Parts: sequence; C-alpha cells; structure tokens
Amino acid sequence: MSANNSQAQPKENQGVPQGETPQAPMPKAPGETEVCVIGAGIVGVNCALELVKQGFKVTVVDRAEPGEGCSFGNAGILADWSFVPAFGPEVLKNVPKYLIDPKGPLTIRWTRLPHILPWLFRMLGHASTAHQRRAAEAMNHLTIGAGGSYAKLAAEAGAPELVRQDPVLQVYDKESDFAKSEADLAYRAGFGISYEALDRKALSDLEPALGPDFKWGHALIGGGTTVNPGRLTKVLAEEMQRRGGKLLQAEVRGLARDDGGRFSVTTETGVIACDRIVLAAGAFSHKLSAMLGEHVPQGTERGYHAILADPGVEVRHAVGWKSRAFYASPMEMGLRLAGTVELAGLEAAPDYARAKIMAGLVPTMFPGINTAIKSEWMGFRPTLPDSMPVLGPSAKVPGLIHAFGHQHVGLTCGPATARIVAGLLKGETPNTDISAFRPDRF
Ligand SMILES: Cc1cc2nc3c(=O)[nH]c(=O)nc-3n(C[C@H](O)[C@H](O)[C@H](O)COP(=O)(O)OP(=O)(O)OC[C@H]3O[C@@H](n4cnc5c(N)ncnc54)[C@H](O)[C@@H]3O)c2cc1C
Repeated sequence: MSANNSQAQPKENQGVPQGETPQAPMPKAPGETEVCVIGAGIVGVNCALELVKQGFKVTVVDRAEPGEGCSFGNAGILADWSFVPAFGPEVLKNVPKYLIDPKGPLTIRWTRLPHILPWLFRMLGHASTAHQRRAAEAMNHLTIGAGGSYAKLAAEAGAPELVRQDPVLQVYDKESDFAKSEADLAYRAGFGISYEALDRKALSDLEPALGPDFKWGHALIGGGTTVNPGRLTKVLAEEMQRRGGKLLQAEVRGLARDDGGRFSVTTETGVIACDRIVLAAGAFSHKLSAMLGEHVPQGTERGYHAILADPGVEVRHAVGWKSRAFYASPMEMGLRLAGTVELAGLEAAPDYARAKIMAGLVPTMFPGINTAIKSEWMGFRPTLPDSMPVLGPSAKVPGLIHAFGHQHVGLTCGPATARIVAGLLKGETPNTDISAFRPDRF
C-alpha cells in the first residue's frame, strides 16, 4: 500500500518537463503561458482557480454557465473514503437482481444497449477485487483531504457556509449489508480514513427521524458535504475571475494544434489561441479529445435527483442508504435525494421515473416524510471502463492535459486534480504516481 498523501502536492521542478511528452515545447513561465480550460464544471473550475493562483493566464470556456453540468445536481458528498471503484464482484453478482427490480439502483435502457455495449464489456472486464485494490492505490490520492480543501476554498471565496465538515451517515436495513461495509471500511481505514460503527441508539441520537428498519450504520468522519454543489462551482468560478481568470460562455466546436505548439480552440463566437489546453468537459471530453486524434473509451453512468418540496421531517446529516445507492442530502434548496445509475448513453432523453423511485423509497428511511417533489434532474457521470479518471498529459498531443472521467467522485476529486494539473503545467513531477490515469492505458 502506498503512503497516504492527502494533498497530492507536486514536487519542486526538477528541471525536466515531466508533465509533457518529449516533443512538447519547454514550459514557459506561468505568467507567459496562456491556458484554455475547457469545461466549467467542478473539475474545470478547480483547475482554473489553482492555475490562476499559480500565475497562469487562464481562460475557461463552457457552453453553459459554471456548474450547470453534472456538477449541478450531485449528492454533495465530499467522499474522501470513496476511492475504491463501486463496480466490483459484489455489484456484478447483484446485477441480475438489480435489473429485474424496477426500483433497483441500476438500470439499462435496452434500446441504447447496442451503443453502450463495447464500453460495458470493458467495464465488466474490470469488475475484480484485484482491480479495485489497484485502483484504490491510485485513487485515494485524489479523494482523501477533499473536505478540508473545500472548506478552505469556500472560505477564501467568501462562502464558508457552502461546506459542512459533519459526518456523513451510511445506513443499513440488513445486518449482512452492515457486516460487508464494516470489512470494506476497515480496508479503507488502512489509507487513513476515519469511521465509526453505529448501533440503533447511536443512529437515533444522530438522526432522530431515521426509520426503525435501520438498526445499523456508519458515521464517515473527515470528509463532509457541500450544501449546494452547483453554487459552490459558481462561487469558485467567480473567485477565479476575481483573481484575473477569464470565463467565456461558448461551445467548443473544433480543436487544432499548429507546428509551433500553439492551440486553436474554435467556438461558435470565435477562436481562442493558447499554449496549453486543460480538457475538463466531463462526460463530453472524449468527443473533444477525438478532435485532436486521441480516442478515449469514455461512457456515462447517468444519475438522478429529486428535491422534495416540503419534507416535513428534520434530516440533520447526509444519509446514504447503501443497498439502494442513493443519498438524502439536506441542502440549501431543500432535501435532495440523489444517486442511482442508468446506463443509456449521452443521447437518450431523461427518464424521471428514476428520480421518483428515490422519492418512493425515502419514507422507509424517514417515516412520515412528505414526498411531494419540487424538481427533478438528470446528470451524466463521466465514466471510464476502469472507474478511474483520465488525468495527465495526452499520450498523443503535447501540451494537452486531460482532467476528466471522475465518475462518481468528481466533486470530491476536484481540488487534488487541480493541484496535479497545475504542477504538470509548471513542469513538475507529481509526488503521487498518476500513471494509472494515463489516457492510453486501455
Ligand atoms: C446523481 C449524482 C450524484 C453524485 N454525487 C456525487 C457526490 O456526492 N460526490 C462526488 O464527489 N461526486 C458525485 N457525483 C459525480 C460528480 O457530480 C461528477 O463526477 C462531477 O460533477 C464531474 O464534474 P466535471 O467537471 O468533470 O463535469 P461537468 O460538471 O459535467 O462539467 C463539464 C462541463 O463541460 C461543458 N462542456 C462539455 N462539452 C462542451 C463543449 N463542447 N464546449 C463547451 N463546454 C462543454 C459542460 O457544459 C459542463 O459544464 C454524482 C453524480 C451524479 C449524477
């Protein structure tokens, strides 16, 4: 097991531009380097903010306002313990059961199956304990420390109320589910995360409205939550602009690199010329990297949320029902039920029945809750077949840095990803091994 390094800080420049391929031009000083960050989701905004702090000339381009993609509607969990891919032998064993249960946590849009099958086969190839353990060795460097990082970032941006560092609860209505999680969390504790097992009394003390079926739980300590992931992204984008970064709302339609190593980012409003690109367009990133000749097998796991209009019960913590794969997260705009996975690709229309399923299940968690829904949402998690992001220099295009594919934990991984990206652009060697995230690993 590698040493825990929650901050993933880059090492000092060792003279060799390790962040670049051999053909890449030598990095210029940050103040002379124009960087275009494509994507103003939580990953792109974290990268842009860190780059501006390091002195780079940054333009962020997004077809929407910051935080309107997947980063808008997630469960808000700063899940520093979530460094083990969820898709492993246990989930694989349960897939048939999930698929025949209309309320199950995983569904496939069968009409889209031919389109997603190649990606799905690759996913299946990674559903092993050996892969989960390999991935954990790499991923823990991106997740651990997220709560503290966001508390600092939100405070610097003048919005400390957006981040809470309270425990997150995972609850179980079956003792066998608790026992499995107990073993799994003990493994994760080896990387430095903290948790406590909770009996019924401890659960009731922490969360008095929790239903009687939930006799077992865990408090996950040290991560925390944001009470509005979309607003957090916007606030950090504003902070990036206050520090001199630029934000442009436009769709990127073309990418090119000339012989001198300069890039042209073509949008519907004009062309941005830059020295470096950070590609952080979430579930759409592979379409953009393909424009530069780099093909990455990214797919998507769609997820949903429902916000309850007036729940009528007090939910004090973010509470996750592990076997149903969703969280009830108290947020600024109300109680958000968020989670589940739908495999249907990028093109199919949302199926908001998935959001209603969570509203239908939540009275078991909180008896007496009013399940009237105020709003529903669907988002595209960016997912590579091995459940790890593509993070680091392009294997083909010098000067292109990838930062996408963070799947279920993009919010959590944002700050550590940004530190790695900034270090690479300065020509530093990351002090964590990022080879597991190479774009040409498939
Ligand atoms: C239901 C649900 C619950 C989740 N819960 C959590 C959680 O609790 N904790 C956690 O850590 N993670 C969670 N996630 C995952 C997390 O939300 C994502 O991993 C994260 O938001 C990805 O961020 P991103 O910046 O990579 O992508 P996005 O937020 O999708 O941003 C990508 C941006 O790129 C832009 N873009 C794309 N193509 C173009 C183009 N051609 N031109 C210009 N702009 C373009 C888009 O407009 C978008 O703004 C959850 C996800 C879902 C769906």
